[in-house]
Amino acid sequence: MKDKLADLKARLAEVADLESARAVLSWDQATYMPPGGALSRARQMATLEKLAHQKFTDPAIGELLDELQSWQSSLDYDSDQAGLLRATRRKYEKAAKVPADFMAQLTEHTSASFETWSKARPANDFNAVKPYLEKTLELSRQLANFFPGYQHIADPLIDFADYGMKAQTLRQIFANLRKELVPLVQAITQAAPANDTCLKNNFPIDLQRQFNRDIIRRFGYDFNRGRLDKTHHPFTITFSIDDVPITTRYSDQNLCDALFSTVHEAGHGMYEQNIKKGFEATPLATGTSSGVHESQSRLWENLVGRSRPFWNFFFPRLQQTFSEQLASVELDDFYRAINKVQPSINRVSADEVTYNLHVMIRFDLELALLEGNLNVADLPDAWRERYQLDLGVEPPDYKDGVLQDVHWFHGTIGGAFQGYTLGNILAAQFFAVATSVHPEINDEISQGEFGTLFSWLKENIYQHGSKFTADELVPRVTGSPLSIESYVSYLREKFGQLYKID
Ligand code: ZN
Repeated sequence: MKDKLADLKARLAEVADLESARAVLSWDQATYMPPGGALSRARQMATLEKLAHQKFTDPAIGELLDELQSWQSSLDYDSDQAGLLRATRRKYEKAAKVPADFMAQLTEHTSASFETWSKARPANDFNAVKPYLEKTLELSRQLANFFPGYQHIADPLIDFADYGMKAQTLRQIFANLRKELVPLVQAITQAAPANDTCLKNNFPIDLQRQFNRDIIRRFGYDFNRGRLDKTHHPFTITFSIDDVPITTRYSDQNLCDALFSTVHEAGHGMYEQNIKKGFEATPLATGTSSGVHESQSRLWENLVGRSRPFWNFFFPRLQQTFSEQLASVELDDFYRAINKVQPSINRVSADEVTYNLHVMIRFDLELALLEGNLNVADLPDAWRERYQLDLGVEPPDYKDGVLQDVHWFHGTIGGAFQGYTLGNILAAQFFAVATSVHPEINDEISQGEFGTLFSWLKENIYQHGSKFTADELVPRVTGSPLSIESYVSYLREKFGQLYKID
């Protein structure tokens, strides 16, 4: 059995190496590659992807998994080997059902679609992307249909990102959350609005960079095994457990943009950097689901980074860094400004309270598209109507309406948005447990210390990588399955105080 396990691990390591090499090319494409390199780079990445897919779906891997099956059932469920075999089988069975030709077609189509969207968005041209989006919808349906027996056609697509999650379950969770959010947004919009003019000034980018780097170093993001670069769209990418770069974007007119996106990506980065070393180059060496991953970025961004204790420590430093711009600003006013709630047309810059309403709009629209209840041609109108209905605002154009997010233009329709809201819910659920086990965490945060929180996250979440599924991990860590309770009480308490509502 030892030999078979070693054989399996050697094969998985080759797949992981090809995937990492592809990731390095993709990171470089987004950071330093000159524009002229785009065509050859796309070809090189497609070659590596094809090789990785071929190696991973080699029937020999399936045979090894079968031969190791009886040994696997003799192992302790919590052992690393059992976890490795479970995760590998899950991933293998999924990959093996999708023909390599289809994968190649999908990759080729999504690159072309992304290319078109990149130009169509600034030009405000929905018609240019419409045929691509129609094709994406068709391919998304085809992909789902490689997994027959689903309840909802979106289920297999959701399953790629959030294993085990179903459209029906998500609809229920989102409906329950919506019932809490809508009255809260209404109460806030009737209260005195927060003033955020102090955030709109000139903030030199070099100073922002130094300040943000200092924050995430204190959190525990390891610059010896990571780096921070500049891109249009912030992201985290993994080359190895010991090499997890993150990126951010800067605006000299907006202090919060880089600050919170750096903190957000550092949350993703710390998760990947702190997976158990022994999981390197296996399917265990990554976060377990998009919802759990997002919970880690949101936890550091919102529950820590937008909290009052955090700014008790960092605001005097921020004032020192930007002495001219912030000299006459009070901590309380700054805290209110960074937590201003205002229904808007933009998801990425949305506040904590309205954010999930943006996600729900996208989720409902993509289900309607997949079900065949909405045509691509009618999508822009449907988008506008939902924004008017849910948020009371209407995008003035396609650019900041239906063309706003990259997801549908750079991947399938279905499966890409639910993770954001699951992440918000789980962040609050995890943080509530961490602070009840270690009530000193908030005092530490107000002194710029994050060691207790970081260690708790590492011990309970980070180190496990993909060893446990989200459905297994959440009850292990919190004692109950995913639940919106902690999140709703967190929002009520924080924004109730800020906006003086009961
Ligand atoms: Zn994220």
